[in-house]
Amino acid sequence: MTQNYTEHLDIQAFQNDLIKWYYEVKRDLPWRINRDPYRILVSEIMLQQTQVVTVIPYYERFMKLFPTTKELAEADDQTLLKAWEGLGYYSRARNLRESARMIEEMGGFPTTHEEILKLKGVGPYTAGAVSSIAFGIPAPAVDGNVFRVMSRVCCIFEDIAKAKTRKVFEAVVSEVISHEDPSAFNQGLMELGATICTPKSPKCLECPVQKHCQAFKEGIDDLLPVKTKANNQVKTKLVVAMVKNQYGEYLVNKRPETGLLANFYEFLSFEYAGEKEPKELLIEKLSPICEEVKNIELVGMFTHVFSHRIWEMESYFIDVKTRYTDEVAEDSTMWINNEQLKDYPLVAAHQKILKEFNQ
Ligand code: SF4
Repeated sequence: MTQNYTEHLDIQAFQNDLIKWYYEVKRDLPWRINRDPYRILVSEIMLQQTQVVTVIPYYERFMKLFPTTKELAEADDQTLLKAWEGLGYYSRARNLRESARMIEEMGGFPTTHEEILKLKGVGPYTAGAVSSIAFGIPAPAVDGNVFRVMSRVCCIFEDIAKAKTRKVFEAVVSEVISHEDPSAFNQGLMELGATICTPKSPKCLECPVQKHCQAFKEGIDDLLPVKTKANNQVKTKLVVAMVKNQYGEYLVNKRPETGLLANFYEFLSFEYAGEKEPKELLIEKLSPICEEVKNIELVGMFTHVFSHRIWEMESYFIDVKTRYTDEVAEDSTMWINNEQLKDYPLVAAHQKILKEFNQ
């Protein structure tokens, strides 16, 4: 199958054109000053949900605080989260610290793709990026940009919304990646997707690999990549709060016996129309059952897709003080401990939030 996608390509010429262009346009970024795998790992994790320009000041501050895995491994929660504040998705920071601890225990940064993939929070894309950039290993690093460029260059009509499609693209990239300079090749593909081969109106006339591009030749670049979209889905904005009391118990509510997710349990959750600040609304809702709201922390934004609806959840963790453990607002609401939480059927959308928070 892979052979079919690349048979039109003069692989050597494609590599040369891409790499030559990459060295011409390459930006000076703080994580490119050397090939330190730790510095590259930090940059790749930070860049996962954030733009390059936003990441730069965070990255520089983070590297000053934690110049090596040793300092990061020893970081306390407060310092770590403070350094990450504003980037969101705090599990990324905790995973990075966990990786730093693993690296310290190993006595040094792992040097193979397989070992790098075992680090906490490191998926196939990040492992490929670190392996190729830091160690010159010809491993594919397929992100959204690479999906787009390679789907067009090789006319791949596989649906990139499907998880199994990643394997198809990884196989294609593995076949065409430069073994002499996999770092520049992977970064070149990413850069091309970010700047030239953009989702809408790609700048084909300026493209360094235009002569290799099957979609350009056939005039079908606008049809690729294929990404199915869920149709007719109603979006609902929600505020979800994991409320924990001084006894270590969580506030949960049992959903009605009929309708969506009937009889499942959920954290405090309500539709949000932007009428007031979410924190204000949370305090209002909790005041009848809590003596004191001690701390409210934003966990992050989460999306959960059902067949006909999408929940967009702004999620919080809240520390409260209650008078009695059985003090609740409604019959369907209760306090349950950590052990019970594992047993109760919690809606999957909220499990995601709990998992993110616990990581
Ligand atoms: Fe993308 Fe156009 Fe270049 Fe093909 S020729 S890779 S579609 S920018």
